[in-house]
Amino acid sequence: MKTYTIAAIPGDGIGAEVVSAGVEVLQALAKRDGGFKLTVDHFDWGGDYYKKHGTMMPENGRDLIKLHDAILFGSAGHPDIPDHITLWGLRLAICQPFDQYANVRPTRILPGITSPLRNVHGPELDWMIVRENSEGEYAGVGGRVHRGLPLEVATDVSILTRAGVERIMRFAFKLAQSRPRKLLTVVTKSNAQRHAMVMWDEIASEIAVEFNDVTWDKMLVDAMTMRMVMKPESIDTVVATNLHADVLSDLAAALAGSVGIAPTANLNPERTFPSMFEPIHGSAFDITGKGIANPIGTFWSAVMLLDHLGEAKAAKRLMTAIERTTADKRFHTPDLGGTAKTTDVTAAVIETIHGANI
Ligand code: ATP
Repeated sequence: MKTYTIAAIPGDGIGAEVVSAGVEVLQALAKRDGGFKLTVDHFDWGGDYYKKHGTMMPENGRDLIKLHDAILFGSAGHPDIPDHITLWGLRLAICQPFDQYANVRPTRILPGITSPLRNVHGPELDWMIVRENSEGEYAGVGGRVHRGLPLEVATDVSILTRAGVERIMRFAFKLAQSRPRKLLTVVTKSNAQRHAMVMWDEIASEIAVEFNDVTWDKMLVDAMTMRMVMKPESIDTVVATNLHADVLSDLAAALAGSVGIAPTANLNPERTFPSMFEPIHGSAFDITGKGIANPIGTFWSAVMLLDHLGEAKAAKRLMTAIERTTADKRFHTPDLGGTAKTTDVTAAVIETIHGANI
């Protein structure tokens, strides 16, 4: 029997609540499937760790997880610590050195969930947003001098490399090709940003030649926000830079009903390092400890994790269990207008997993 090792990093805020629910669900699936086992190692990295040690994770942190088959991540953020420290100290400190350059964010309106978009119920909104996850606006290049003086200068330089753009375009075209509609929208801002974004567009055209069966178009990011709201059915797969996709995917999550549902995979497609799976939401300190965090985003991320491990049958079973659970309004947490607790949703998903007809 195959045994996979999973590194669980709950992080901060509701991260702990949703990751422990995610691990419970994954173990239930392994038990139900019978064909694989999971060994889960927990790492207490994050804001509290920072307060004790002055870093978000130990110096050899990446060495401790680099041989795991996958990482299940919660959230990084702490009310007393600046966001750029928590983000760069943990999430980006894993994503970038592990070269998880393709961030994939599926968006669908799950059964039983109401989109804030009028007359949009399900089939009209089924997207895959691919976010370039290793460079662009979040390359980390820049600096700050003359702090506090009137002459203070600060820069964040967006970097796009040919190699980086080629690999994310190829990944996005391949993903679009694998989906029934074979449709890709390349998001850009090459009207205002006339260097790197123009290269981005040119490389998209070059890579498109390799994928003759994929229909693709190009859209300015500002126009894309309107299209997502006004013509959601015209969109299928989307590729965008780090910042653009960061913003668009939060909008996508809201249009699908709640940020608590949306999953994401930070993939190293060549598998030279483990990939990382996490809900897209943050640490949500406003609801931490209340037991009402929606765990669906983490469960859906676990579906992506299982798919990545090659456990397609278990992944499908979990997705079905998630959809049956969201279809029943008794299991809606307050972000979806219900009164269910995290534990109610988790128990319902696990019960469905163990059911006879799944
Ligand atoms: P961070 O700075 O870590 O990104 P944040 O609080 O700015 O955190 P989110 O954590 O994404 O951003 O929260 C935004 C809003 O969505 C909050 O009101 C939060 O309570 C709500 N929210 C986020 N995730 C969930 C969830 N899983 N279940 C229910 N509500 C959620």
